[in-house]
Amino acid sequence: MLSFILSIQIIRGSLIIRIPLIVRCADCDKEFAITSIEYKCPVCGGLLWVKIDETKFQEKFKHIQKHNSFWDFYFALPQIKKEFFITLGEGGTPCRESNRIGKNLELKNLFFKDETHNPTNSFKDRAAALLISHARSWDFQKVICASNGNQGASIAAYTSLEGMECINIIPSEIEIGKKAQLIAYNSKIIIEGNIIDDAINSALSPEYIKEYYQCTPEFNPLTIEAQKTIAFEIYKDINVPDWVIVPMGNGGCLVSIWKGFLELKETGVIEKLPKLVGVQSEVCAPIVEEFLHKQSGTFEDTNILQSKARSIMVKNPLYQAAAIRAIKESNGTALAMPENLMLSSIGDLARYEGIFAEPASALTIGALTMLIQHYNMKHDDIVVCLITGSGLKAPYVLEALSTRAKTAGMGGILSTKLKILSQISISNKKGIHGAKLKEIIGSVSLPAIYQHLKELEIKKLIHRKKEGKKVLYFITEDGKKVLDAMDVLITLL
Ligand SMILES: [Zn+2]
Repeated sequence: MLSFILSIQIIRGSLIIRIPLIVRCADCDKEFAITSIEYKCPVCGGLLWVKIDETKFQEKFKHIQKHNSFWDFYFALPQIKKEFFITLGEGGTPCRESNRIGKNLELKNLFFKDETHNPTNSFKDRAAALLISHARSWDFQKVICASNGNQGASIAAYTSLEGMECINIIPSEIEIGKKAQLIAYNSKIIIEGNIIDDAINSALSPEYIKEYYQCTPEFNPLTIEAQKTIAFEIYKDINVPDWVIVPMGNGGCLVSIWKGFLELKETGVIEKLPKLVGVQSEVCAPIVEEFLHKQSGTFEDTNILQSKARSIMVKNPLYQAAAIRAIKESNGTALAMPENLMLSSIGDLARYEGIFAEPASALTIGALTMLIQHYNMKHDDIVVCLITGSGLKAPYVLEALSTRAKTAGMGGILSTKLKILSQISISNKKGIHGAKLKEIIGSVSLPAIYQHLKELEIKKLIHRKKEGKKVLYFITEDGKKVLDAMDVLITLL
């Protein structure tokens, strides 16, 4: 019944009809029809989810032969008249089979869902296309967005097509590539605090509530709807994978992908679901901490500001509970990755696969080794790593890579030792043996691996333990310090 209530308003002398969004509270299950963006249930304060008309979903989904565009899935999105659709050619990104990383790890079916192919080089273009189309259909001329940069850059690009006023609230420490995009797309910029948690609250200021369409990803439930199309495209390209590995900041991306697969299952398109793995940097991993230890943990601003994965530094993720629920339902897991693995993973993705990814995305590659060693990921499982955005947006990566080019001779030697040390560090309390290191690192011979191990042992950065016939290597406290120091050095150089 609610869906027939239209909102008719006179704005600037014109009669405006807003087709209400039907939303459902995740906690109390009540439904509401809304004609302004709301993200919290007015009854219990729970998160609101958009309700989709699932009739004929399966039939329409089957008719899509091969996805070409985000808008091919319009039937599974909130209903907006086609005349309001706005597009820069988003979606339809490749889900490409690995060329070399898969072989190095002995994963036979490793894929990269490469969202850097979107118009502003991140997965957020899906949300921008849907949100700005929706804002147009409700006749908004102004939009407000608080973000760590990716969503802001996308929103700014899409509003530029229509000449809409766009205000972006960002923390002072966002990646410079994203800031440059905001300026280039002619967005107004307001800087609020050092980290995203400060900026988000100011987007709810009363001055923005009435006239501005809310594009902050945490506050607009259409963001989840837009991003769920990633799951649809993965299924269309390679069927249902066994694992999907997703970087987590506010948790919304993982939740979206889970919603996409759930809708496919509920409408009878698919029968099984993938395991979801959410990955965060250990510098700020509240979702992982709660998943593993039932508490969010405390994370220092000073460490967060030094992280290379700036786009996923969120201390109080709005989708934390929903993300944990999704991971549990999927029988997946959550992993906190050491920062020092990030640069080497970015390098591996670029060198072996031709993908230049932002640091947050590279965490998904770093996670593979852990999943094989400790979480029963099998060599013939179908695995998808989500590459959310481009490395060109992240200054630390660009600086570190250009520094590495200048000191290429020394860098080569240094990077193999560091890789070995990093891998031993990841293996944590279980330890790792030489042949396994050779398997993971790939291009280095086994005798060379043992030589490096010997040198690391002499310097007391690692120690060994015999278990049966195997010699296992473990990192020492000094080894950890060296890894941390190298990390800072690479960042500062
Ligand atoms: Zn509620």
